[in-house]
Amino acid sequence: MSAKIIDGNKIAEAIKQWIKAELEKLKENLVLVAVQVGENPASRVYIKNQKSSCEEIGIQYNLVQFDSNISEDNLISEIKKLGQDEKITGIILQMPLPNHINSRKIQMSIPEEKDVEGVTPANLGKLLYADVQPTVAPCTALSVMECIKSTGENIKGKEAVIVGHSEIVGKPVTLMLLSSLLDSATPTVCHIATKDLAIHTKRAEILIVAVGKPGLIKGDMIKKGAIVIDVGINRIQIKDEKGEPVIDDKTGKPKMKTVGDVVFDEAKEIAGYITPVPGGVGAVTTVMLIKNLVNLYKSESAS
Ligand code: NAD
Repeated sequence: MSAKIIDGNKIAEAIKQWIKAELEKLKENLVLVAVQVGENPASRVYIKNQKSSCEEIGIQYNLVQFDSNISEDNLISEIKKLGQDEKITGIILQMPLPNHINSRKIQMSIPEEKDVEGVTPANLGKLLYADVQPTVAPCTALSVMECIKSTGENIKGKEAVIVGHSEIVGKPVTLMLLSSLLDSATPTVCHIATKDLAIHTKRAEILIVAVGKPGLIKGDMIKKGAIVIDVGINRIQIKDEKGEPVIDDKTGKPKMKTVGDVVFDEAKEIAGYITPVPGGVGAVTTVMLIKNLVNLYKSESAS
């Protein structure tokens, strides 16, 4: 039997409707400022997507660019200035930063009440408390939780295995799965040093994979009926039946496609629910950023 597909676009649409309803109640326009240092092709794509998502919903998106030679101290003082500007609702830092700049230090210079990505120590710290509802949290982790929630399955006590322990996905998701005193799942976190990954993944009733390695999770590593959330985004070559790359006639280069970390065709025959890539977690992540922005505004205006 084939797994039910978790439709990220449908989840994102419902959250967009919530955001639009909230924005209608607010008297002010929200402003998201993106800080970019130097030029980077990868962040150019993110900026374009963030800008169009914000504008579609009616949020002002301003890009503030700094020269790639800016010193760390100057960048920190520029971000502090933005942090004090009352017209700005949230600040997002575009990665990567040039090598001479310590990105952790820069992230920490964003005030917690403008930290739309939920990555400052104060906002991450709130994820530890069972009795505090964090205003914001890392968007991808929130997106994973929305995908799980959309199945309607109760997570209480379930074996949840998280593969990948990064600060933006694996670690915050683990804390979110533990956020209830009585109804939490039972998470296990696997990572690069985990000795036998399959031992863990095979007993997962909820399997969350955030690594960045295509083909890492094969069908025989998945428990029957599991909820499989594939966070990975990988670009790979399209191959023909002989295993040779398919060449694009126009460019003369191999044709590419986007896949996750899970072998989708195998996994969908075993899992109970699965997120596709693209169209799963990634489709929800940008709207979670905007939901964070609305939550920052509401929290500030209530204080
Ligand atoms: P990261 O590089 O910070 O972390 C990777 C994690 O994978 C680490 O914890 C590492 O220990 C673990 N790992 C590496 N090899 C492993 C192996 N063989 N077995 C088990 N664990 C292993 O990555 P990240 O920033 O968390 O991103 C992970 C993936 O998610 C990437 O493909 C990224 O593109 C994608 N991503 C998707 C979204 C989205 O919205 N869908 C957002 C962010 C990141």
